[in-house]
Amino acid sequence: MSSHPSPAGALPDEQRQAAPSRVLVLNSGSSSVKYQLLDMRNHSRLAMGLVERIGERTSRLTHTPLTGGGAEPRETTGPIADHEAALKSVAEELAKDGLGLDSPELAAIGHRVVHGGLKFTRPTLVDDTVLAEIQRLIPVAPLHNPANLTGILTARALRPDLPQVAVFDTAFHTTMPESAARYAIDVKTADEHRIRRYGFHGTSHAFVSRATAKLLGKDPSEVNVIVLHLGNGASASAVREGRCVDTSMGLTPLEGLVMGTRSGDTDPAVIFHLMRVGGMSTDEIDTLLNKKSGLIGLCGDNDMREIRRRVDAGDEQARLAFDIYIHRLKKYIGAYYAVLGRVDAVAFTAGVGENAAPVREAAVAGLEGLGLAVDGELNAVRSDEPRLISPEHARVAVAVVPTDEELEIATQTYALVSGSAERSDGLT
Ligand code: AMP
Repeated sequence: MSSHPSPAGALPDEQRQAAPSRVLVLNSGSSSVKYQLLDMRNHSRLAMGLVERIGERTSRLTHTPLTGGGAEPRETTGPIADHEAALKSVAEELAKDGLGLDSPELAAIGHRVVHGGLKFTRPTLVDDTVLAEIQRLIPVAPLHNPANLTGILTARALRPDLPQVAVFDTAFHTTMPESAARYAIDVKTADEHRIRRYGFHGTSHAFVSRATAKLLGKDPSEVNVIVLHLGNGASASAVREGRCVDTSMGLTPLEGLVMGTRSGDTDPAVIFHLMRVGGMSTDEIDTLLNKKSGLIGLCGDNDMREIRRRVDAGDEQARLAFDIYIHRLKKYIGAYYAVLGRVDAVAFTAGVGENAAPVREAAVAGLEGLGLAVDGELNAVRSDEPRLISPEHARVAVAVVPTDEELEIATQTYALVSGSAERSDGLT
């Protein structure tokens, strides 16, 4: 990353000016591919889009060109058989605006990879060894890593000459001390099955903790920040002087905060109980806790806008869901306050964190003893910019900091291929 000194092979400034500066960011899911094309000379977005329902008859590609003042999204529907076909369609759409994948302007493709285990601590240039390691991690990320791998293989087949860079969701959390990363279970069993707390949303936590330091006019190494990434998935992290020291997601993204459809923390014995007394299968419980719990399980809605509308209309079930969500959030703020000892800022981000003023207000309410408060007027402001919502002279800054995972992936990718970051296979 940019904090590393330039290695011997780094490009001199004048050559970097002329070097290719575009990065395509790919986020490949099991049946979808999200993408953005960015120009890293000025961090501008050139195009973005989404391919959905890959492998079905009703696949859809929505492509939005963003050059020349922007244009209307173009939508194509019809069967897209697999990721290869999806990426070819994306390439065709990009080519229509003169941004094709064969362009010499393209410097690299940056891939979001969900699970990097313990080995990948930084963005990594993909080669066969790296691919094999991502493959080896499939048992701990069965829903995500296979799709991420397919995305990389497909992109590599299309442009074999181009650097492909893997940016891992778990990487930012690899600095967690063992005391935070280990579960208190038999060490031998844990090690045999690689059971530990890996954490996720790392790209967002990294971006937001740095952006929060910038908002405070400080270097990341000078501040302690609690980041609350509250989207449909949600996680908190404690970041000390730029390094993650604890995070709420664990072996999988199920642990921690109450989420849109995931339970977050539960007593693990709930699972035995559901098996023994409820007669449920492993898969049924997996689906229950990952897809039918959290806000949707509590009140039937997982969209915070709808929940707030129902709360305001006096709906008791929605009120209880909201209260449980806030209670858990508060517990994590308190826990991470204790972990960090001194907190300079609490930053709210992602769909709920950036947009839901009532969530921010309720999460911080009653925490004046910790130096935390929000200013009602500032909290009500709607903006896409990072901003403070705490009263002036507050002991702890409370901030809203929009996350930008695509920009972070592109930045890390470009830093690696342009030589402004340490160039290595990332394996430690
Ligand atoms: P994300 O996963 O970061 O895209 O966040 C998606 C979630 O953000 C949605 O499920 C909503 O619950 C929430 N969200 C988006 N916009 C708003 C809004 N204006 N007010 C409250 N919640 C919102």
